[in-house]
Amino acid sequence: MHPVVWLPLSTCGLAPEPAFWPLHTWPDGWKANEGSETCYHCGFMDQFSIGVDLGGTNLRAAAIDDRGEILQRISGATNLSEGRDAVVDDIVRSIEALRDARPGSRLVGVGIGVPGFILIEKGYIVGSNNLPDFENFPVRDVIEQKLGTKVILENDANAAALGEKWMGAGRDVDDLILLTLGTGIGGGIISNGRVLHGHVGMAGELGHMTVVPGGNPCGCGNFGCLEKHASATYIASAAKLLSLGDALTAEGVYRLALQGEARAKMIFESMGSALGIALSNLINIFNFPLYLLSGGPLPAWDFFSPAMFREVKARSFTYRNTPTRIEKATLGNLAGLYGAAYLPFQAAAALEVAGSPDRRF
Ligand SMILES: [Zn+2]
Repeated sequence: MHPVVWLPLSTCGLAPEPAFWPLHTWPDGWKANEGSETCYHCGFMDQFSIGVDLGGTNLRAAAIDDRGEILQRISGATNLSEGRDAVVDDIVRSIEALRDARPGSRLVGVGIGVPGFILIEKGYIVGSNNLPDFENFPVRDVIEQKLGTKVILENDANAAALGEKWMGAGRDVDDLILLTLGTGIGGGIISNGRVLHGHVGMAGELGHMTVVPGGNPCGCGNFGCLEKHASATYIASAAKLLSLGDALTAEGVYRLALQGEARAKMIFESMGSALGIALSNLINIFNFPLYLLSGGPLPAWDFFSPAMFREVKARSFTYRNTPTRIEKATLGNLAGLYGAAYLPFQAAAALEVAGSPDRRF
């Protein structure tokens, strides 16, 4: 039998609400310490989950325990050129390496964040520019079968939002929205501590919110999407249009703004304005306490945020009259790993309470 170390509820991410405590059953001959709050979950043995962040360029994975401590991390290239089966094998090998390195601990499950839409029930990835080979392929079930472990798929921006809720800037709230500013703009909505999925799993595509009617064309078929007016790609293409340079990156435009270049500053103002319109809509709809921004353009905060806050104040009665924070996310590119790893803990806790598997996670 494993030695029992009772941990207080506050240190265990899996502990259910005290109201659900009677649902717990204790193994024969075991009992909780009299008068103290102890946790059945972590009474057995150390437990951990594995989060995977499958990007178009890099495959990263981490073993993370239920208190959010990263136990081990590995990363490598995503070998898309070698085909889907090679990528799946790389994912499985990464997970096995992390799992087999801690034989004395219990693996709760595996969460995988992927760039693309997720069909939650089927465990499919659809509409991913980065992973076209995975279209209509039962990737979750295939990996589950190879590993013999529960696997949960999640959109990468949703996973990042959940990571910020668990261990980042959103630790003190249950409701938040994250916008990830990159090549495009991803979004994740955390409501009551969980990812808001919509009816098939495609909610939170905040980058495709219209912020400029008749604006820049987007690959999604719309015009004026947020990501066409506030992403790193927008910053670079606006710089080209304004003759600042043909090969400037968003970072290059930021450096020009630091030097006082007026056109570079104007680009960040227009980006901030687009973000402000989007955020004011979100605030008006959700009335959440926290909205987070992450991604490469964040260092330019001082250049884009004045216009962003100006728009939000002008357009949102809710913002002006409720304590609402718009802040920088804090986990950087680890957010997705944290969120992916948190998914199995959440699912296990729900299973404990509900008594039946729940595929909504
Ligand atoms: Zn779009």
